[in-house]
Amino acid sequence: MRVLVTGGAGYIGSHTLIELLGQAHEVCVLDNFHNSRPVVLDRVRSLTNGKVTSVTGDVRDRGALDALMDDFAPQAVIHFAGLKAVGESQRQPVDYYDVNVTGTLTLLRAMDRIGCRRIIFSSSATVYGEPVYLPYDEAHPTAPLSVYGRTKLMAEEVLTDWARATPEATAVLLRYFNPVGAHASARLGEDPADYPNNLMPFIAQVAVGKRDELQVFGDDYPTDDGTGERDYIHVVDLARAHVAAVDWAESNTGARAFNIGTGQPYSVYQMVEAFRRASGHPIPLRVAPRRDGDVARMQADSRRAEAEMGWRATHTLDDMAASTWAWQSGNPDGYGG
Ligand code: NAD
Ligand code: UDP
Repeated sequence: MRVLVTGGAGYIGSHTLIELLGQAHEVCVLDNFHNSRPVVLDRVRSLTNGKVTSVTGDVRDRGALDALMDDFAPQAVIHFAGLKAVGESQRQPVDYYDVNVTGTLTLLRAMDRIGCRRIIFSSSATVYGEPVYLPYDEAHPTAPLSVYGRTKLMAEEVLTDWARATPEATAVLLRYFNPVGAHASARLGEDPADYPNNLMPFIAQVAVGKRDELQVFGDDYPTDDGTGERDYIHVVDLARAHVAAVDWAESNTGARAFNIGTGQPYSVYQMVEAFRRASGHPIPLRVAPRRDGDVARMQADSRRAEAEMGWRATHTLDDMAASTWAWQSGNPDGYGG
């Protein structure tokens, strides 16, 4: 299929390009490189020998989208382009609604103009908010705790209404848990522009000596070792979920949400220990106060994705740690090195 990938130069997008090309899909990327670099696409090309056309542009730019739709005529769109930092979203809500919600609306209008009826959307487990029960299944109430989470839920609602009103339309809402890890080649990985907000890239930077110590945000949660637990998902498994979703969209219509996780949560201390094993380096740490808005535990029930799309995570915790370490140690300055 011809697949337009918005935000395809980003962390998850780049890994997804590799998996799409591996299944003989044709891809075209739209990215404004707000949080990525063009060199990422060169690395994807060199890893696949695949044809990756790309357009530098903003997903809110209707003119750029219309031109791209006319040239490439996608049969499906995977929509990664967006802003994703929870803390920043609280300080810059208008930017987040604009990129994440207006961007989705603009994309839908451009798709409608050429009759493209399939979209795979990057949603997040953060739409659920404080757990009412665990593991979260897709029927769990949605009550996001941040502006970022609300932009994702709002985009899901837009896509759901679009699919309801548009014959033949398919909207696959992939609710990612915590993506970590890197490509087996160690040529693609997560390259936080600034101070890493997330646990795994932070641990990796401590192990490689770029940061002195990890702050553990709270050790008094009601979990086995007192630190926060998350459902970490290897980015290659997550990338493959997008290929499964493209296949699913070929023979299904309507809007459907799918959790994408492993079902196995790990604590901060377990992640640190796995990283120590993988890197052979000490990870100095210090217990700090809880971070605002954090929940004790997140855990996915991903049985729907397995039953309906035939997708299941296969990578282990050690795969996540080892691939992150290979990427971080081989590219200490990320793509800027
Ligand atoms: P990322 O920042 O690495 O990738 C996003 C890409 O979109 C970047 O290449 C960026 O340059 C591009 N982009 C941003 N604004 C744009 C715009 N206005 N027009 C065109 N391109 C634009 O992030 P990621 O981790 O790969 O996440 C991809 C998607 O998945 C995002 O929508 C994010 O909200 C969602 N998501 C990510 C996580 C996570 O933990 N990484 C979890 C759940 C959901
Ligand atoms: N965390 C931490 N120190 C850090 C970053 C994160 O202790 O420097 C903890 C955080 O409190 C949470 C877990 O690690 O329990 C995962 O955090 P992350 O930001 O990666 O994911 P999210 O909380 O958004 O699911």
